[in-house]
Amino acid sequence: MDLKPLDPQITLKLLEGREDIVTPLAQEREQFYGSQRCPRCSGNATSKTGNPHRLFVEGEALPRYQLRCDNCSCLFDPFSGIVLEMGNLGEAFEPTIPILGQSED
Ligand SMILES: [Zn+2]
Repeated sequence: MDLKPLDPQITLKLLEGREDIVTPLAQEREQFYGSQRCPRCSGNATSKTGNPHRLFVEGEALPRYQLRCDNCSCLFDPFSGIVLEMGNLGEAFEPTIPILGQSED
């Protein structure tokens, strides 16, 4: 499915005189995404990713993104809390046991 964006000049002309309800919703949604923590490693660094089959929900003006943890690559849905891909916890934490034989003497 190809999405063709409308010419910004035409968009502005069509929206002239109408109340902007999308910007506050978008700011609220960004705060929601920013407050999410990874359900596996509790990291708060996430990247938004979109599944075209679940991106748009009836009755909502904004798309719903899934979040991928930047630490362990876990993919989860912040709206339902469901973990979609487990990721790798080994990437998120440094080993607690020091690895021997790495000194450069
Ligand atoms: Zn994580």
